[in-house]
Amino acid sequence: MTARILDGKALAETVRAEVRAGVEQLRERTGRVPGLDVVLVGDDPASAIYTRSKEKACSEVGMRGKLHVLPASTSEADLRALVRRLNEDPEVDGILVQLPLPAHIDAQRVLDGIDPGKDVDGFHPVNAGLLLLGRPGALVACTPSGCMRLLALAGARLEGASAVVVGRSNIVGKPMAQLLLAANATVTMAHSRTRDLPAVCRQADVLVAAVGKKEMIRGDWIKPGAVVIDVGTNRVTLPDGKTKLYGDVAFDEARQVAGAISPVPGGVGPMTIAMLLSNTLEAARRR
Ligand code: NDP
Repeated sequence: MTARILDGKALAETVRAEVRAGVEQLRERTGRVPGLDVVLVGDDPASAIYTRSKEKACSEVGMRGKLHVLPASTSEADLRALVRRLNEDPEVDGILVQLPLPAHIDAQRVLDGIDPGKDVDGFHPVNAGLLLLGRPGALVACTPSGCMRLLALAGARLEGASAVVVGRSNIVGKPMAQLLLAANATVTMAHSRTRDLPAVCRQADVLVAAVGKKEMIRGDWIKPGAVVIDVGTNRVTLPDGKTKLYGDVAFDEARQVAGAISPVPGGVGPMTIAMLLSNTLEAARRR
């Protein structure tokens, strides 16, 4: 079997077109343009690239995107004061503080200070709690909701399916498991202490890998016909100095076994930004 490749770039373009139409509709109805404010502290080059691409993505769908770049020496108090100002600013619908933050800043305290209604990353305890309780109104973390769209693209039947999520972080693994549970899958969360991980993975009709270990999940860990979503982004510097991105799944092996698989790059990555735009539109609509 050769797996269907789930084209995250094309799907992200569809989501962006939906958002663009939604932004236009909101503007016509209310005269308001949704706005996302992205806060970057320090000069980490990867973070700078991510934040600029988020700002650019906003303008492409007709939203207002604003980047606040603060020096690495910014105090936690000053950062929290900026977040408070953005919370109160009626022009701001979404606030995103780019992680990681410098070591002297308690990231959790900063994120907890974001108005849950503007928390387009979906990391605030209120949004995480609403998702956990299965109550409406949560802004859901972008990467897992992008994964759900990829599963829909694959035509995965989730009800009653065995779903395994490898990784239990607050930003990917846990919300992913909640979304799968809400879709009536039988969910197993695996992590670094899981015993016989290959055997656990082999049970999965749907396998989501969010570990951060290059090609850890091998082809013979995958149930024939399973849908595999690879969240991992592992950047490797090649001998010629160029960098190459690898997923958590050994793609060439896995595609021989799986029914469908998302590639890295071009799978989950583009969906994450698309869902961020979608969350910002949703936050604006609610306000
Ligand atoms: P974290 O480092 O926060 O979490 C990694 C998880 O993997 C932990 O739960 C850890 O277990 C588990 N783990 C580590 N080693 C093993 C192992 N040998 N066997 C089984 N489980 C293991 O990472 P994130 O969730 O933030 O990110 C995961 C990956 O997804 C990364 O590559 C990241 O770059 C990528 N990512 C991609 C995004 C995108 O848009 N494409 C967005 C966000 C993340 P334990 O809890 O026991 O330590």
